[in-house]
Amino acid sequence: MSRVYNFSAGPAVLPEEVLKEAADEMLDYRGTGMSVMEMSHRSKAYETIIQEAEADLRELMNIPDNYKVLFLQGGASQQFAMIPMNLMKNGVADYIVTGQWAKKAYQEACLYGKANKIASSEDQTFSYIPDCSDLPISEDADYVYICENNTIYGTKYQTLPNTKGKTLVSDVSSCFLSEPVDVTKYGVIYGGVQKNIGPAGVVIVIIREDLITDDVLPGTPTMLKYKTHADNNSLYNTPPAYGIYICGKVFKWIKKQGGLVQMKAHNEKKAKILYDFLDESKLFKGTVRKEDRSLMNVPFVTGSQELDAKFVKEAKEAGFENLKGHRSVGGMRASIYNAMPIEGVEKLVEFMKKFEEANA
Ligand SMILES: *Cc1c(COP(=O)(O)O)cnc(C)c1O
Repeated sequence: MSRVYNFSAGPAVLPEEVLKEAADEMLDYRGTGMSVMEMSHRSKAYETIIQEAEADLRELMNIPDNYKVLFLQGGASQQFAMIPMNLMKNGVADYIVTGQWAKKAYQEACLYGKANKIASSEDQTFSYIPDCSDLPISEDADYVYICENNTIYGTKYQTLPNTKGKTLVSDVSSCFLSEPVDVTKYGVIYGGVQKNIGPAGVVIVIIREDLITDDVLPGTPTMLKYKTHADNNSLYNTPPAYGIYICGKVFKWIKKQGGLVQMKAHNEKKAKILYDFLDESKLFKGTVRKEDRSLMNVPFVTGSQELDAKFVKEAKEAGFENLKGHRSVGGMRASIYNAMPIEGVEKLVEFMKKFEEANA
């Protein structure tokens, strides 16, 4: 068996320990004689799995009691519709557009009400986070929406926007559990888990209880109402059971690493190795404004499409996978999520140095 260094933006690298544990439990989950995949989601064993997963996530993120944790399906993209359907009581919401995912969320919200684009960084291909200290927040906005870490462009909010008292809704798909977070600053925090937590197929929604009501847009399907899932502890219908089980293992792995404070220190250390190199390199350059750099997704270019392609090809041959940038930006992108070991980044930088010398 040989494992590569996987820099994929998602689905992405998972902790090896977790994968091994899952493999050990594959045929017989703790004496049940069956795999978690084959188990009723109403069984005692599964109830324990989902309850422990929630408890561990609550502990990791210090989630207050007046927030619900929902394990749902449909990916992060389904939330682009669920959020307006459930939260647009006045039919108005403000969107800050810092990348493709925020843009898609904004466009989806336009289908359900009056969505205002109150700030954008599209003028410079989303290479920065706009100043959000004094935006024209709509008086009747039901919420202000952000995508906190822009997976494709590699930017991250270093301070949350001033929402002037309005509910903040944040897509944290690509920075989930990468650092400590103050949940009380948000009405909704959500993310697909396939970037930093688990296998594709699960989206986690952390939502303040007062936002969960029956007062949703007319025609909202039962399955798309937060209340349906909140009232049934994410077991209204069959949940993405195996995915949740793996997420639970990752929560335990993060706890063992020392929690989110330790995760942040680890991620800062990794990102610094790569950014320091990009700053001194004569060949490779980071593509975003320094103050807005993401700890998770690091895009870079050589300035030549040919060299970019050569780099991606040679890197792959050397065991560094999925370094090609998003199809909309080109160049390269190294996603260095929680489970990427520090050696992966060190070795990548060594490889980049050699490539630079060889192609000077
Ligand atoms: C990947 C990603 C999405 C889309 O996730 P799906 O689960 O594929 O719908 C949305 N937002 C962000 C920030 C992402 O990184």
